[in-house]
Amino acid sequence: MHEMTIAQGILELALNTASSHGAGKITGIKVLAGELTGVVPEALEFGFAALAEGTLAAGACLLITIVPLTGRCLDCGAEHRVDKYRFICSSCGSYAIEIVSGRELKVESVEVE
Ligand SMILES: [Zn+2]
Repeated sequence: MHEMTIAQGILELALNTASSHGAGKITGIKVLAGELTGVVPEALEFGFAALAEGTLAAGACLLITIVPLTGRCLDCGAEHRVDKYRFICSSCGSYAIEIVSGRELKVESVEVE
């Protein structure tokens, strides 16, 4: 399952962060997930909660922000939201679209105490 692998990566990073800060508990983790990653927040939260059992991150709140898929037109330079994976410039109709955001998957911050 896609989300379990991601949840595992998030948990490892959070645990490393906590131990490098000498923290006793992880209270919250902010995650940025691009629309293109296909991450389902509920599934990720569920997977994370299951994996975090018995670790410093048990009960930690996972805050997932979905980053919309946006593209930049290579012909006219317009930036716009890419709707339904249709990579067409809404200003000039060009198909030469470069992805600006929506591919990222990263931990933005880890809150510890
Ligand atoms: Zn254009």
